Amino acid sequence: MKTLQELTRPNIWKLKPYSSARDEYKGVEASVFLDANENPYNGPHNRYPDPMQWEVKNTLARIKKVDPRQIFLGNGSDEAIDLVFRAFCQPGQDNVVAIDPTYGMYQVCADINDVEYRKVQLNENFQFTADKLLAATDMHTKLIFLCTPNNPTGNDLSRQEIEKVLNSFDGLVVVDEAYNDFSEAPSLLADLDRYPNLIVLQTFSKAWGCAAIRLGMAFASTDIISIFSKIKYPYNVNQLTQKQALEMLHRHYEIDRWVKILKEERGYLESEFAHLPCTVHIFPSDANFFLVRVTDAMKIYNYLVGEGIIVRNRHTVSLCGNCLRVTVGTRVENDKLLDALRHYQDS
Ligand code: PMP
Repeated sequence: MKTLQELTRPNIWKLKPYSSARDEYKGVEASVFLDANENPYNGPHNRYPDPMQWEVKNTLARIKKVDPRQIFLGNGSDEAIDLVFRAFCQPGQDNVVAIDPTYGMYQVCADINDVEYRKVQLNENFQFTADKLLAATDMHTKLIFLCTPNNPTGNDLSRQEIEKVLNSFDGLVVVDEAYNDFSEAPSLLADLDRYPNLIVLQTFSKAWGCAAIRLGMAFASTDIISIFSKIKYPYNVNQLTQKQALEMLHRHYEIDRWVKILKEERGYLESEFAHLPCTVHIFPSDANFFLVRVTDAMKIYNYLVGEGIIVRNRHTVSLCGNCLRVTVGTRVENDKLLDALRHYQDS
């Protein structure tokens, strides 16, 4: 791996970060706070939140079995995706490599940051090889994006190939594990200390059932996390979000129950879809959604909208012609979808 200084944009490496009032006084003994130009009325919402979210990070660190200093928390994992570009990619000069198809925000963030985005197409089983991916890199490639289970294909990427990339690539490897809770594959978090070039993304939006609070996690070496902390907005995770996250972390056993039910429902949907006349092929899934090739994605999508049921039409995505992406819902919701599709007629 190149040194972190070589991988970081020079202006970011030498950046002196903004220092907020809450950064400067970290004690708990004081009782009179006249340092941050806050309003003394309307507690508790009058006070700025902890800019480094230590209570959330300390609790999360125990659950995830990492050092709290290896955690970055952001406004969704989308914030972390944007930060990796801003920290490491020189606009107009550097590039990144990603599998294709995959989660759309990697390319959007690359485009916003004027960074070349190189796509390497998955094979017909939606798998990749490290060799093909690495062949697309050059001396200006700073990041490789892998998403496992992958969105929109739903499958886990080969662990062996992921590790090959981690061992061979001299830049940083972002592994997006937004849907890992629904997979049998172990998270790469356990290997964080083995790979100094690894950044693992996870989110509260899926298994944790908290898409509304906007809380994403990035796990990496303490050095990489320090760079994110330096360039993030000072109070990037608001107090209401931190409070709700702590509450969720204290009842994390419930997440296991939801995940178990959703995996069972995924199996139910897949087996029922197999009997539908409009189904052409169901792609195996390790996530809380699955991709299904149908007779006519556009027509079926529009028909379902008419029935008040919204799925995602992925017809225009590469390798996903005539595919719909179906999120697993409750049994009642899933039965409504199945019922509607049983009544659908190709015309
Ligand atoms: N990564 C993947 C693979 C996703 O599918 C999504 C959301 N659909 C995200 C990240 C973004 O999650 P968040 O809500 O944490 O921004």
